Amino acid sequence: MSISVIFLGTSGSVPTLKRSLPSVVLQCPKELLMFDCGENTQRQMMQGKISFHRRLKVFLTHLHGDHVLGLPGVLQTMALMDRKEPVQIYGPPGIRNFILCTKDTLNFGLTFPVEINEILNEGMIVNQEEYTINAVKSNHSISGFCYSFIERPRPGKFYPKKAKALGIPVGELWSRLQAGKKVTLADGKVVLPGDVMGPSREGRKIVYTGDTKPFEAFASFAAGADLIIHESTFDDSLADKAAVDGHSTPSQAAAEANAAGAQRLALTHISARYPNANLLLEQAKKVFEETVVAEDFMVVELPLKD
Ligand SMILES: [Zn+2]
Ligand SMILES: [Zn+2]
Repeated sequence: MSISVIFLGTSGSVPTLKRSLPSVVLQCPKELLMFDCGENTQRQMMQGKISFHRRLKVFLTHLHGDHVLGLPGVLQTMALMDRKEPVQIYGPPGIRNFILCTKDTLNFGLTFPVEINEILNEGMIVNQEEYTINAVKSNHSISGFCYSFIERPRPGKFYPKKAKALGIPVGELWSRLQAGKKVTLADGKVVLPGDVMGPSREGRKIVYTGDTKPFEAFASFAAGADLIIHESTFDDSLADKAAVDGHSTPSQAAAEANAAGAQRLALTHISARYPNANLLLEQAKKVFEETVVAEDFMVVELPLKD
């Protein structure tokens, strides 16, 4: 099944009439993974037809208002819709206080459990059967994290003709082989999964930076990504300002995508000073051709890999 990457907000610091504040959702077969939750995210979810009831994990990159102020509203609306499914939230230390203070001060109740996970160290933070989420420290004006979604490889294609030719009866033995286990036939012959299946198929990898200027560990963190969603707040002529504020320019983001050997790059967190983002796109494409500038409600489909 395809994973849809839906950009709900692509502006940085302040919204514009065309761009809402940062939020990206990965629509996976079994759940939604949301990265950042800027103000107005709930309304963007409605417009983008994102369910308020599906299984959800939220990953906050850092505690700047433009990345987190939408979360209390999303939670409150979910409660008004009588959501039952738990929500898991991950982010740097301070997110617990932020969520609990808002909830207490505004005195709203929740109809579902909220699990808050403050991330203390880099590395794997979510370990699921189908994927992992990993965090690396970003290089911004305050501490925070970049995240990667890494899908586990899938077993190779199963060839029924080969299984039949080897005299393996249809049923349990087929399932065992498909699950990657060797089987022994009635005549004592041993069949390995590789005898009836193709090589395992690579999973997909998506990286989301949040706010950051370039840093050394990024290329290996993002290595081989199918899609890097990288902030690109200012154009190249403002590289000095970007460095002071802890942000990136298009050619810096593109250089990171190159160094990581990524397939595609989407620039986001676009400053309000660029009503037209062509300049940013041109600057990035000189360094990394497979670049797009994200727009609100843009969807990137990542189909299963063979
Ligand atoms: Zn920001
Ligand atoms: Zn920031």
